[in-house]
Amino acid sequence: MDCKKVGALLRQLRTEKGITQREAAEKLFVSDKAVSKWERGLGLPDISVLNEIGLLYGISTEALLNGELVRNERNGGNMKRIKFYVCGECGNIFTASSPGEITCCGRKLSPLEASSPDEAHAPSCNIIDGEFYIEFPHEMKKEHYISFAAFADCDKVYMQRLYPEQDAAVRFPRIGGELYFYCTEHGFMKTKIKP
Ligand SMILES: [Zn+2]
Ligand SMILES: [Zn+2]
Repeated sequence: MDCKKVGALLRQLRTEKGITQREAAEKLFVSDKAVSKWERGLGLPDISVLNEIGLLYGISTEALLNGELVRNERNGGNMKRIKFYVCGECGNIFTASSPGEITCCGRKLSPLEASSPDEAHAPSCNIIDGEFYIEFPHEMKKEHYISFAAFADCDKVYMQRLYPEQDAAVRFPRIGGELYFYCTEHGFMKTKIKP
C-alpha cells in the first residue's frame, strides 16, 4: 500500500466534502493529529477506522486502500453491453451499462452470465397492437417462475418484473434487440428478437 497515495486521496475527499481535519477527526473519533498524519502519507488509518472513513466519504475500502478512485469510463451509450445483477438476499434487480461496483444487502453482486434458452424457456414473439407480445412456455409457480424480462437495443432498456400466478408474457415496443430474462431456477438467459 502506498501511504502517500492514500494520504493524497484522503485529503482530496475531505476537501471535496468541505470539512476541516478537526471536523473529520471528530466524526471518526480519532485525534486531528491522526487525520493530519494519514493525509501527509505518514501512516495508514487503522483497520477499525477504515469502515468509518468509507461511510464518511462515501468510498469503498478497496478504493481507499488503492489510493485512487477508479473512474468509470463513459460508456458509449450502448445498452447492448448492459449487465444485470440480482441480489440473492432480497431479490432486487440492478442494471449497469458500464462496469461498476454494485452492492446490496451488504454483498458485492456479480453480473449475471446469460445462457441461451432451452426449449422449456424459449420465448415466442407475436405482434399485438403494434407491440411485441413475448410469451414464455414456462410455469409461473412460486418455486419456479420467470421473475423479470428486459429488452435492450443500442440506447434503451425496457424492463418488466413478473410475479407468480401471472401470465408468463411481456409486451415491449417493436425494436430489434436482445431479450433478457431470468428464471428463478434456471437462471439468466438471453436471446435475440427481430422486429
Ligand atoms: Zn439485497
Ligand atoms: Zn425455468
